[in-house]
Parts: sequence; structure tokens; C-alpha cells
Amino acid sequence: MMRQKMKRALYGMTILLLLFTLVPAVPSYAAGRAQDVGDSLVVVIDAGHGGENLGAKDYGPLEKDLTLTTAKAMYEELLKYDGVTVYMTRTDDSDLSLEQRAQFAADMGADFLFSIHYNASESHKRYGSEVLVSTQAPYNAYGYQFGSIALSNLTSMGLYNRGVKAKEGNQGDYYGLMRESSKRKVPSCIIEHCYLDMDSDKAYADSTEDLQAFGRMDAKSVAQYFGLKSTTLGVDYSGTSYAEVNASKVVPVTKSDGNGPDTLEISLWNNNPSTGDVTVAVHGFDANAAILYYEYSLDGGITYTPFYKWPNADALNNNNDNDFTISFQMPEGASAAFVVRAYNIFDEVTASNLLDLNTQVLATEYQQGKAVTPVVNTEQVVTETPTTDWSPSNATYENADDPSTWSEDEETTTPTTQPQTGKKTTNVWIPVLILAGISLIIVLLLVLVIRLVLLEHRR
Ligand SMILES: [Zn+2]
Repeated sequence: MMRQKMKRALYGMTILLLLFTLVPAVPSYAAGRAQDVGDSLVVVIDAGHGGENLGAKDYGPLEKDLTLTTAKAMYEELLKYDGVTVYMTRTDDSDLSLEQRAQFAADMGADFLFSIHYNASESHKRYGSEVLVSTQAPYNAYGYQFGSIALSNLTSMGLYNRGVKAKEGNQGDYYGLMRESSKRKVPSCIIEHCYLDMDSDKAYADSTEDLQAFGRMDAKSVAQYFGLKSTTLGVDYSGTSYAEVNASKVVPVTKSDGNGPDTLEISLWNNNPSTGDVTVAVHGFDANAAILYYEYSLDGGITYTPFYKWPNADALNNNNDNDFTISFQMPEGASAAFVVRAYNIFDEVTASNLLDLNTQVLATEYQQGKAVTPVVNTEQVVTETPTTDWSPSNATYENADDPSTWSEDEETTTPTTQPQTGKKTTNVWIPVLILAGISLIIVLLLVLVIRLVLLEHRR
């Protein structure tokens, strides 16, 4: 009788162990909003910069004033929603440190700190909206879900989607606002509405009305994120759908692998010396991040065109694998050394192979009629075609070896290092050892069971 019970127990244990080993771990994806908030919702709005801290300053009005106008409009609009308490870090031209902004949010019991900014780049070539979030879980996933909503709204206004991004620094987050907020357990993000140093973007921030429209749009994004209702506005966002995230992990597309697009190849499709018409096929791929822009050079990379939109760019995903063609007319006296550069959402760049347009040797795939006809890129940010918009004489010089990665809102200049590479190799062995241990126990148990069964039979 005792033996029978022991046998049953052993069988049970063996089956349980087998189940634990064989059933794959199912990740806990959040179907709705990953962030859980209590009954009282508190939102803190931060107008970026202020006082001595001007922000972007060389493109008309100061950034610190633009952010305050937008933040105030966002505050007014959010008050129209039910069940939300709203605070502002500053309502005048005061200069607050990033620690003070984060501490204020923590003191108010903020469920989220939203920092309002306008952008500029050293190359003066970028355009579009982006949301910067924390590298720390779960704030990264919260930021990604909010950022997806905010960017969907900003792109509906006509702005280009530059994605939701996080950047690692030496002591946690590279961006000070997120570093200080995450330390204080306050979810936060920076909303970079548009580039003040790019005319096509600046048109969205040219008047007080424009800046207030951004604020109202941000309020709508917050209301959608928290599923708020407004009797005043007659809207109910309780049915918001969210991007799929695993809150315990960093959303992969928010982090750069430090490299530009993995592949960028160009080949000659048409070259007519009598008319000067040239068509070049482009193939680009980046497994880590969406490709956003491309530019090209007719002088071997000394001067480049403005940034064109990469066809079908989808900044919130990384499924870039595109073929398209660039058609243009060879300007008189161009050196005809053609090269393309492509930039992903992290502004990391890759240069293509160099094409000598004087040889007029077409791509073999094209000659044999084997190549698939690429999608012709019609959506470009500059209204003129590349031919009329750009020629070597009026193009701005840009060093081909030194593409800019500068951004006005980087809060620290210390370089990012990854000293954990050694650790990773040892980490790989831990699950292997655990699996080996479990397997050993199972084998021992099976041997024991078989022996017991055999003993039973011998009787
Ligand atoms: Zn700023």
C-alpha cells in the first residue's frame, strides 16, 4: 500500500517536472494600457527650458517661450476632462533644473510627467516629431504606449513620424529629465513637436495659434492614453487601443544598436547621355530601426541634397526592406560620382556603394530584365523635384565623414559605453545550467520509477 502511494507521488512529480521543462514561458503582454493608475489621476506638464536656459535660440522666437505657450494650452485643455488633476512645473520664465522638475512631479504624486519641447539639429536637415522615453522598465513601455498615441496625432497634423526613442547614459538615462523622473518612480517623456530650423516644420509653430494647437493635441493624446472623458468637449476615450508591450521589458524598437541601416545598395537603371536623364535603383534594409531619410550626392559625397522621406517609412516598426528609384538630370559639369546615404530613426547613417555615372554600365539585373520594378518614390518633403531644387553650386557643404548626431536636448555630453559585454556571455550559461539540472533530476526520477515498477513485477 505504502509502495503504491510512493509510486503515485513519484509519477506525479515526474509529470510536473516534465511540464515545467516542456511548456515554453509565455510572456505577459498587456492587451490594454500597461500603466495602472488609481482613482485619482495626476498629470504634470513641464514647459521645457526657461530663464537663462533658452533652448533652441537661433530660429526666431526662443524655444523656452514656445514651450510655455504650448504647455499652457495643454493645461487649459486637459482641465476640460473629468477626473484629472493637472499641474505645471513653471507658469513663468523661471529656470528650473531637471531635478527640480522631476521632484515637483514626485511631490505632486504625478502619474506622468510630460515635458514640452521644440527641436533643432546641427545639420539643419531633419524634420518631424519624436517622443523620447526612459530606458528603464516599466517606464519605457508606458512611454512607448503614450508616444505611439501622441505621434499618431502629430502625424495626423502632417508632421513626419521620427519614432519613440530611449537612450542609455552612464548613470541610467542619457536624457536628464527621464533619469531624474525614473529615479523618483515617475513615468515621463519628452515631446519634440517639430524642428524650428527646418522651414517645412517651422510652418507648424509659426504663430501663437499654432503653438496652442500643439498643446490641445498633446492634451488629447494624454486623454486618449488615460482613457478620459470630457462632457465639455463631448468626447469619451475609454475605448482607446494601445500598442502591444511587455511592461517588464524595454520595447526593442526604442533602442538603437548603434549602427546605421544594415544594407544600402544602389545600381544604375537608366543613363541617357544625350538627355542627361539618370535613374538609380536603391535597396535598403535595417533590422533594428526604421529608415527615415535618404540624401544623395553627385560629387562623390562632398555635397548632398536635402533629406528626402524614405518610401513607406514606419518609425514605430522596423520592417524597412525597400526598393525604389531616384530619377534626376545630370547637371552640367557634375563629377558624376553618385552616392546615397540613409538615416534610421536614431539618426545613424549608412553610405551606399559609389556609382560612376560616366561608365553608363547598367545593373546586370536590369539588363537581363530580371529585377522587380521598384516603387517610385513620389512623397518627398521638398515640393520641388531634386533636379530643380538642388545643384552642386547652391548645395550646402557637409562633411561626408562626419554626419551629425547632435540634438539640442541632450542633457549630458558623457559618452555612452557598454561595459556589460563580458557579463552577457556568463548570463547565457545560467539557463543552460538550470535546464541541465532539471534534466538530470528527471532522468534520476525516471530511473527510480522504472526500478520500482520492475521490483513490483518481480514479486
Ligand atoms: Zn528643448
